[in-house]
Amino acid sequence: MYPWKKRAIHRRTQREQKETGEERTTEYTEDTERRETEDGFFRESPRESKASTPAAQKQPGCFFRFPVSSVYSVVPSLSPFCVHLRLLWITSALTEIESRTLPVSPPPAVTTAAIRARRGPKAVVDPRRAYAFFRERERSADGIIEDVGTVLLTNRECPFTCVFCDLWRHTLDAPTPRGSIVAQLQEALPQLAPVSVVKLYNAGNFFDPQAIPPEDWPAIAKLVNEARVVIVENHPRLTDDRVLRFREMLPGRLEVALGLETAHEEILVRLNKQMTVADFERAARWLRDHDCDVRAFVQLGLPGLIGDDDVEWTVRSIETAFAAGAQAVSVIPSRAGNGLMDDWQIQGVFTPPRLESLHAVQQSGLALGAGRVFVDLWNAEQFASCPVCASQQVHALHQMNLTQSTIPWPECRCSVLSK
Ligand code: SF4
Ligand SMILES: [Zn+2]
Repeated sequence: MYPWKKRAIHRRTQREQKETGEERTTEYTEDTERRETEDGFFRESPRESKASTPAAQKQPGCFFRFPVSSVYSVVPSLSPFCVHLRLLWITSALTEIESRTLPVSPPPAVTTAAIRARRGPKAVVDPRRAYAFFRERERSADGIIEDVGTVLLTNRECPFTCVFCDLWRHTLDAPTPRGSIVAQLQEALPQLAPVSVVKLYNAGNFFDPQAIPPEDWPAIAKLVNEARVVIVENHPRLTDDRVLRFREMLPGRLEVALGLETAHEEILVRLNKQMTVADFERAARWLRDHDCDVRAFVQLGLPGLIGDDDVEWTVRSIETAFAAGAQAVSVIPSRAGNGLMDDWQIQGVFTPPRLESLHAVQQSGLALGAGRVFVDLWNAEQFASCPVCASQQVHALHQMNLTQSTIPWPECRCSVLSK
């Protein structure tokens, strides 16, 4: 049982007690775990189900859940003292196995130059035109479904060059000319109005002066002054007093979207994101301390993670983001199409996630009860196992985004029907 699961089960148990007024022990027990698992609250991983015999379930503190007595039985019976020493050694080895991180294989180390060398050509973009804008609906922290206008700004490419990122396609090589972001918003915003929330997503970092010239901030703030919330994206390492200067120009609230990507330190370092989990935590806490709202991006299906490990680590990442102060988390399925990611897919280092995993992550993320959990559904049909059921399954995830409650997964029954 992983610590985040225990904590989530504790929280749920405590919530249930509060609602029913029932007096029960709140300590975690194996019974609690079994009840939650039977509810379908958490998926049982193959690793956990390997030893599901009653005898195995009774063994506490064993990662693989096989009876510790079966290990003892293979120890040669020498002197009682030797047996005792061996038993001590085995017990400590089992404790070590349980306490270490999940067994994942981080992807190979890569450099910015290597990532860029494998890319295809950029799209032709006009610095005076946003490369896309659209309206969508999103549930607010107050439970209201609001109209959101998203503008995908055209600006200078992000300098960080994460291995999974394909946002560089619609960016400029040179610093963004002064006035061009204002021109983009002057064209896009009237076509989106009226909206309560404006997302100014810029394929990079809003507070990178080469991407969004600070001289343009006052004009940008004026253009979005009717929005209740303005959301910008930014790298944790670029989160400082610049944010406060822009926030002071807005009548509404400022929300900053920070990419955590994963709480797995070894994988994070291989993504070339050039930050640590601590950098994310520092930025998120700093923003909350300075009266800004925070959302986090985490990735599902990162290179080196697959199947249940991938789901486990993504849920851990959601929990890390909430613990650092994020009020909402968006889960983004990792995609190929970036050159190196395509190579890694062929080599088995990267496996695109499945739609079912996205559902499992959102379900577990919502069960944490710590904030809103959204899943990114852009072109999400590509992750479905069955093309016939894809739209129904994406619709279910869309409803979960809007309601922030779990909807049962629409299983594919095509193979059953065709028999
Ligand atoms: S920091 Fe964000 S925009 Fe920049 S490369 Fe990484 S994911 Fe892409
Ligand atoms: Zn189907």
